[in-house]
Amino acid sequence: MTKAQRACLAEALVSGYDLLRRGAPSIDAVEATIRVLEGSGLFNAGCGARPQLDGTRRMDASIMEGRDLRAGAVAGIEGVRYPVAAARLVMEETAHVLLVGPLATHFARHFKLDRQPSPGKRVQRTVSLPRARLTGLQRKTRDLFAQMQKPSRLRREARETVGAVALDRDGTVAAGASTGGIALMLPGRVGDTPLIGCGVYADNEAGAVSMTGLGESIIRIAVAKEIADRLAGGANPATTARLVLAKLTKRVQGSAGALVLSRDGRFAITHNTARMTAGYWSGTGRPVVADRFP
Ligand code: ASP
Repeated sequence: MTKAQRACLAEALVSGYDLLRRGAPSIDAVEATIRVLEGSGLFNAGCGARPQLDGTRRMDASIMEGRDLRAGAVAGIEGVRYPVAAARLVMEETAHVLLVGPLATHFARHFKLDRQPSPGKRVQRTVSLPRARLTGLQRKTRDLFAQMQKPSRLRREARETVGAVALDRDGTVAAGASTGGIALMLPGRVGDTPLIGCGVYADNEAGAVSMTGLGESIIRIAVAKEIADRLAGGANPATTARLVLAKLTKRVQGSAGALVLSRDGRFAITHNTARMTAGYWSGTGRPVVADRFP
């Protein structure tokens, strides 16, 4: 984790918690926290999102609240500074849960959401995708997945999706996540982040969960819902997260990191990747930020 990332995470935690302290709902805190991270350009989300193999940055985000199980998400959205804000609008302004592709972008434009600044040189130099090379790229992508599924490689390759979970004074939990995806994605690839029950879940009868890691493995276990279901039975967040991550490894050779918050405020930051940059704050002292959690 860089110094700038550490400072940004602390700022994000403070901005989210300040809202909770003033009595705002947990979904506001989750959105505000994620927006700080998206806007910073320091993580793989929003302004810092990585491009797909055709050089276009397509982003995924979702948000969910646990009182009425309302959720919103966008996948493959382009040119938006705060994709989580688009997800929130899907939740609040439509009867749907998920919008995808150019029409999700169109939706964001309709609501005049802030635009993502144009990418830096590094992003502009990304390879294009001539049709003839597609087979080669498929092979390359498969090889990459094989490598990424080794725990020690995952965080280096799939860098810094952002997410947050929160519990407000009314006892409502919320979760959200936002990402630019993984390295060497085929255009059109969608990960776990915008899929409710895979990348995020929130239920006042259980708790809130936000995931990071290789989406292709997280989706196959529906990890966020699996963790939430166990929390609903009263299980401890840390034990639950460890058990489900162990299942992820055993069944689909996946590794991941989870932010888990139970409905009564117990929480865990758990990962079976080498590192996971994350933090927490309960309003006293300074926010805790680290890139390894026990
Ligand atoms: N889960 C994200 C995805 O698969 C990537 C990540 O968390 O690093 O799109």
